[in-house]
Amino acid sequence: MSESPVDPAAAHAAVLSRIAAAARAAGRAPADVTLVAVSKQQPWGKIAPVLAAGQRVFGENRVQEAQSRWDEPAHRDAAGPGLRLRLIGPLQTNKAKDAVAFFDAIETLDRERLARAIAGAVQARGASPELFIQVNTGEEAQKAGVAPAAADAFIADCRRIFGLAPVGLMCIPPADEPPGPHFALLAKIAARNGLAGLSMGMSGDFETAIRFGATHVRVGSAVFGAR
Ligand SMILES: *Cc1c(COP(=O)(O)O)cnc(C)c1O
Repeated sequence: MSESPVDPAAAHAAVLSRIAAAARAAGRAPADVTLVAVSKQQPWGKIAPVLAAGQRVFGENRVQEAQSRWDEPAHRDAAGPGLRLRLIGPLQTNKAKDAVAFFDAIETLDRERLARAIAGAVQARGASPELFIQVNTGEEAQKAGVAPAAADAFIADCRRIFGLAPVGLMCIPPADEPPGPHFALLAKIAARNGLAGLSMGMSGDFETAIRFGATHVRVGSAVFGAR
């Protein structure tokens, strides 16, 4: 997919227009789909042109890596006050406090211990990042996320026991299966639990995800090139 060097600004523009086209084709407004540009493992030289093109929402999968990239004063200056950082990778309980303080959104809430840790950090801070619950739609042993059959109860527990207010669901479908049924399942679980946010779709399948209702697409290599 990425044999040739990528011009990140041009690739970013192309992804935005594909998002808009996919949204319109689904009878949706392009503005209802947020591009989360996944900047993990990318050099600043590729991120800077995408920032210059106006992108302000970025996805990162590790707390420390994200902090060292985005806390750099020159990088903060380049991004300005509109920067929105979303954690899309697994979160260890002992990093919950740092993640709550650093990120605008945590998309990978997926277990009770983590819910408890996030709730404690949110209470101490008096503010919560946007929370999405990760669902392991393919029930893959190596993947994080709550099992689909346990999702309703976990969402209810997050609300009732931990006082959290999740706003959406996130999934990463199995690499070797058509993603559509996974996106449909995530949308169904979200709808019956009153959750409006759907983070689904990556470089290879974001147009399909938009057809199934994605509100956030997490796109890395199609914007920045191979990692
Ligand atoms: C890395 C990553 C992405 C981006 O993947 P691409 O295929 O490069 O678009 C999306 N979501 C998650 C959870 C990731 O870890």
